[in-house]
Amino acid sequence: MATKTPTVKLASGFEMPIVGFGIWKVPRDVCADQVYNAIKLGYRHIDGAWDYTNSAEAGQGVRRAIEEGIVKREDMFITSKLWNNYHAREHAHEMAKLENEAWGLGYLDLFLIHFPISLEFIPFDKMRYPCFWSDKEQTKVTPLSKVPISETWNALEDLVQTKENPNGFVKSIGISNFHTQLIYDLLSYAKIHPSVLQVEHHPYLTQPDLISMAQENNIAVTGYSTFGPLSFIEMDHAVAKEVKPLFETDVVKSIAAKHGKTPGQVLLRWCTQRNIIVIPKSNSVDRLKQNLECCSFDLTDDDIKQISNLNINLRFNNPASLQTPIRIFT
Ligand code: NAD
Repeated sequence: MATKTPTVKLASGFEMPIVGFGIWKVPRDVCADQVYNAIKLGYRHIDGAWDYTNSAEAGQGVRRAIEEGIVKREDMFITSKLWNNYHAREHAHEMAKLENEAWGLGYLDLFLIHFPISLEFIPFDKMRYPCFWSDKEQTKVTPLSKVPISETWNALEDLVQTKENPNGFVKSIGISNFHTQLIYDLLSYAKIHPSVLQVEHHPYLTQPDLISMAQENNIAVTGYSTFGPLSFIEMDHAVAKEVKPLFETDVVKSIAAKHGKTPGQVLLRWCTQRNIIVIPKSNSVDRLKQNLECCSFDLTDDDIKQISNLNINLRFNNPASLQTPIRIFT
């Protein structure tokens, strides 16, 4: 029997497991099995998104685990995200509805605005899989569209299930890839407090002020791409291929050896010990297991400091590298 993963209490009052399984780039043909196997290993939190295109398959995996009595729906925490072409109120509502139907679990635990940028609407049946920022040939970035974040946030608020809104099918809402100025602005009009901020967070991009600002304002932080360049090498990212893999730095290697843990577990613990939720992605059962077990030991304050000192402000997931740069991280 797997040990229960610690949780983080959200502003919405719900508990979110501090380790989840991120399913970006999990191929559709294996996604149901991988999600099902992750649940069997003890995962109770799955991080998906509309643009990962595998929500229906992930939902099948969760439903199989529920049907077999391994978990109940309420044991699971399911996240999805609103894509950039659907920020207008009616489009945000429609996408959330489609996502909820794709997962097929009755409700979503968390729905995030994926990026703080609105692109021109593309009808749902004309979306150019798998090119989300640009045309199919990847030569022309989709133009921006004039939808303020306040409209999108208010649209998400409409989806939250409350006594006054019993038909809502989302438990908590949040944001992703936002910076502090926009978060301060959002807090000035939000009727429902954002529960989560999901951002790129690894030792090469530590963003301490952003993390502190969110946590000080009762917004739980989820870090993505905890292993830094690793996820982007498979996307042929030039800098990710050049930079030293985090697992091979002397700091991470020596701390892992000292604690008898893997470098991956050390990087995940560097986050969870600071109350940052992690959502590592892996296709291997052995790695899924070791990632889930990352809370079974403690780093020293000095270990955490040494790892944080690897920071070089190196961001991998950045639409500024598109053919027409979209410079949201400045
Ligand atoms: P990640 O840091 O989880 O790295 C994944 C890579 O690490 C894969 O190549 C995997 O094989 C390898 N790996 C996993 N566990 C390992 C281990 N124990 N030892 C050695 N190698 C291991 O990167 P990611 O997939 O970019 O991020 C995780 C999740 O975050 C995604 O799946 C997705 O759910 C989410 N995400 C969100 C956004 C966003 O814009 N909000 C962007 C990127 C990712």
